[in-house]
Amino acid sequence: MRPFKYVNASDPASAIGIVAADPTAKYLGGGTNLVDLMKEDVMHPAVLVDVTRLKHSKIQKMGEGLSIGATASNSSTANNELVRENFPLLTMAILAGASAQIRNMATNGGNLNQRTRCTYFYDVSMPCNKREPGTGCGALHGVNKNHAILGWSEKCVATYPSDMAIALAALDAVVQVEGINNTKRSIPIAEYHRLPGEHPEIDNNLKHGEFITSIDLPANKFADKSFYLKIRERSSYAFALLSVAAALVTEGDKIKDVRIALGGVAHKPWRATIAERWLIGKAATEANFKAAAAAELKNAKPLEHNKYKIALATKAIARALESAMNGGNYGAMEADSTTTNKN
Ligand SMILES: Cc1cc2nc3c(=O)[nH]c(=O)nc-3n(C[C@H](O)[C@H](O)[C@H](O)COP(=O)(O)OP(=O)(O)OC[C@H]3O[C@@H](n4cnc5c(N)ncnc54)[C@H](O)[C@@H]3O)c2cc1C
Ligand code: SF4
Repeated sequence: MRPFKYVNASDPASAIGIVAADPTAKYLGGGTNLVDLMKEDVMHPAVLVDVTRLKHSKIQKMGEGLSIGATASNSSTANNELVRENFPLLTMAILAGASAQIRNMATNGGNLNQRTRCTYFYDVSMPCNKREPGTGCGALHGVNKNHAILGWSEKCVATYPSDMAIALAALDAVVQVEGINNTKRSIPIAEYHRLPGEHPEIDNNLKHGEFITSIDLPANKFADKSFYLKIRERSSYAFALLSVAAALVTEGDKIKDVRIALGGVAHKPWRATIAERWLIGKAATEANFKAAAAAELKNAKPLEHNKYKIALATKAIARALESAMNGGNYGAMEADSTTTNKN
């Protein structure tokens, strides 16, 4: 066990000041990812600043949209009436992730910043450019069945694990952050996470010390037709091999607007913009859904062990869109009776 200092932040400004002053300091949400990584010796922050008691847990209306506090738990967010009614896609995605116990602890800010589940990243005896830049990528020519098929680089082929963030990508969320001296900025979700490029050690575009205060969702015209499909190796809690957040607006039998975001295929939530453009103005048929998915997957570059993801993604996109057309699966949103609302 490496020693570290624990600070219970009393207000956002002092939390930001402490983290900004120490390059190894980290905010502590529910700790369900960060503490695991510390136990595995993957991350070694000298200071943990607990932000769970800061007043950033409100979920409230913001014009026609919603503002979701960064320190609200995943459970209270998924089960919040405003979220369930207006953004069922977000509820479905959060409830598809982890277990009730973990969702009770996990915060929205922590969920966005959770790190890859690449097994080489967790195994400190293996090379990994994300954990230790310059050591190489163990997965590139190793066991890479769970890894990326889109947007990867020779430096890193990891995928990003959050379910919640895939729905946020489809919903065009905006991440609100605050830095030192009360500086504030808004980061569209599409620009929040990064592809690995030359620097896979950097997961996202948050600067050191910046604190996520809320995640804002613009007005949602997709509430009636949206669906989150998660494909995993076992039906108990497991990370996605692949997931699809799908949402549509139709006029007659034609698609007026559509959003598709993929999880488990890239280093960040992958907005399937090629498929989206292909579908606008077309009839909402299975054949068109499959053709649009195939157009998106044309650019996929599978690794040795994950060629299956191309066929899987093509079928999953079509299935998610069909389920969205049928009004979504509200069974997946059944109230989580085991959760407690901490906020
Ligand atoms: C067994 C298990 C199964 C899981 N299965 C899934 C799954 O299927 N799908 C899924 O999506 N997730 C899954 N998870 C991951 C889980 O959702 C994340 O661990 C959780 O959301 C992280 O939230 P946290 O508050 O605990 O973050 P922490 O572990 O506290 O922090 C994670 C990171 O976020 C940073 N951070 C925290 N809050 C802020 C903030 N406000 N501003 C800036 N930075 C911040 C921390 O510094 C840290 O770097 C699983 C986890 C476990 C342990
Ligand atoms: S895929 Fe990325 S996280 Fe995994 S071993 Fe390679 S560099 Fe590390």
